[in-house]
Amino acid sequence: MDKRVLAYLEQYVGKNNLLTTLEKRFSYTYDASPLKLAVADLPGVVVFPENTEQVSKVLRLANEKKIPVIVRGAGTNVSGGALSIEDCIVLCLNRMNRIIELDQKNSLAIVEPGVINGELQREAAKLGLFYPPDPQSSEFSTIGGNVAENAGGPRCVKYGVTRDYILGLEVVLPNGDIINTGAKTIKNVTGYDLTRLFVGSEGTLGVITKIILKLIPKPEATKLALAVFPTMEAAADTVARISASGIVPAMMEFLDNIYIRNIEEYAHVGFPKDAGAVLILAVDGDEEILDKSLQRIAEICRAAGAMQIQVAHTTKENNELMRARQAAFASMSRLNPTIIGEDFTVPRSNIPKMVAKIQEIAQKHGVIIATVGHAGDGNLHATFSCDERNEDEMKRVEAAIDDLVDATLALDGVISGEHGIGRFKAKYMEKQFDPAQLALMKSIKNLFDPNNILNPGVMFKE
Ligand SMILES: Cc1cc2nc3c(=O)[nH]c(=O)nc-3n(C[C@H](O)[C@H](O)[C@H](O)COP(=O)(O)OP(=O)(O)OC[C@H]3O[C@@H](n4cnc5c(N)ncnc54)[C@H](O)[C@@H]3O)c2cc1C
Repeated sequence: MDKRVLAYLEQYVGKNNLLTTLEKRFSYTYDASPLKLAVADLPGVVVFPENTEQVSKVLRLANEKKIPVIVRGAGTNVSGGALSIEDCIVLCLNRMNRIIELDQKNSLAIVEPGVINGELQREAAKLGLFYPPDPQSSEFSTIGGNVAENAGGPRCVKYGVTRDYILGLEVVLPNGDIINTGAKTIKNVTGYDLTRLFVGSEGTLGVITKIILKLIPKPEATKLALAVFPTMEAAADTVARISASGIVPAMMEFLDNIYIRNIEEYAHVGFPKDAGAVLILAVDGDEEILDKSLQRIAEICRAAGAMQIQVAHTTKENNELMRARQAAFASMSRLNPTIIGEDFTVPRSNIPKMVAKIQEIAQKHGVIIATVGHAGDGNLHATFSCDERNEDEMKRVEAAIDDLVDATLALDGVISGEHGIGRFKAKYMEKQFDPAQLALMKSIKNLFDPNNILNPGVMFKE
């Protein structure tokens, strides 16, 4: 990186908020995606702004000098959205991590982007409030990253995704201008909804520096249950039946036999290793209605062929089931060194067909695909267990992903439900969108970022 640029950056954010050594810069080349870094893709510098003014100065300079800027929260995205590119500035927001305000009267929070999701949930809960979006990375991903990815999670089946909780944003545009979108109000139909445009924009349009979040009353109680099925088809059919029944569970997570075995061997939670699939189900709300709701869900499960239904009767049992689900992704590393977590999403009624399609594609290409998912909202994480050193296997994995994209689109689905497009899926945007829509999206990017400095290559192929 040019020495004069480094000197300006040091002047803007201070020496302690810059990383310039080779080893430290190398540590910021990755995210949680399976994409591999080319040696040339080393950032020129990593910058940790402490306030909006500093973000603005950094972007103004980068825009003037046409230096690419890769925005980063905790780097837990799995779509290659925070991977560095050659001689870029990595702009890391995790030192802007204050909860600025928790407003009980208006049920809202104002936070900086680096606040960890789980921390916000805990602070809100102290006031009897609830922030529902709960990516399974909630203990380490940032709210800024969650907003940029429009993150989901198990609770979204009942409560909706991050987008549904964002009332307003402070955003620094690529030219350094600072704008404030939305308001503290629940209702707002004033002008174009720029807030929604930024949510899920994966750091391609602006850097989010402040977030106004809607909170809701905390449910009185939550109860979980585990339903065990002989086959994946029976579990998938149950998801469709529960969805059609009018009951809205607070969670409906699907795990296939590969996941069940791995989780059991990793976390020892008492999962039946011979089951074809399990559903982890939750209901929440007033304590007295929970048993009744679970009873109805259990009836539907039995009618669809469930072999066993275990209801959690204590907080400890509830927590064990949650721990099992949270261990899912990590448990897969027992099997093979490379894990690719896909994110295809179909209408709920098509889940049984999609589950069957995943198996068919795995067999066709001779690859291992385990399936876990927020099945309640049709979001299945087809998870490839493979070894990136095996070239032949990786070619088969790639061909299987291509087939999965086609299968998803044929079932009226979308190529990402919550993980985003990043660099990993940019090449599939042409399959998902018609040329006119894609051109419109690219012209929006160009309007906000004419020099293409922010996250170039993310969302749209370069
Ligand atoms: C074990 C595990 C479980 C996961 N479970 C889920 C899940 O259940 N649901 C789910 O949705 N995701 C899940 N994820 C994916 C990931 O945690 C989410 O995408 C999360 O929202 C990323 O947050 P982050 O702070 O790590 O952002 P990063 O990974 O650092 O960044 C994500 C994207 O947002 C951009 N960005 C970050 N901060 C800002 C900002 N302030 N302004 C503008 N752009 C910004 C980045 O450039 C990048 O494109 C999981 C990941 C792991 C590793």
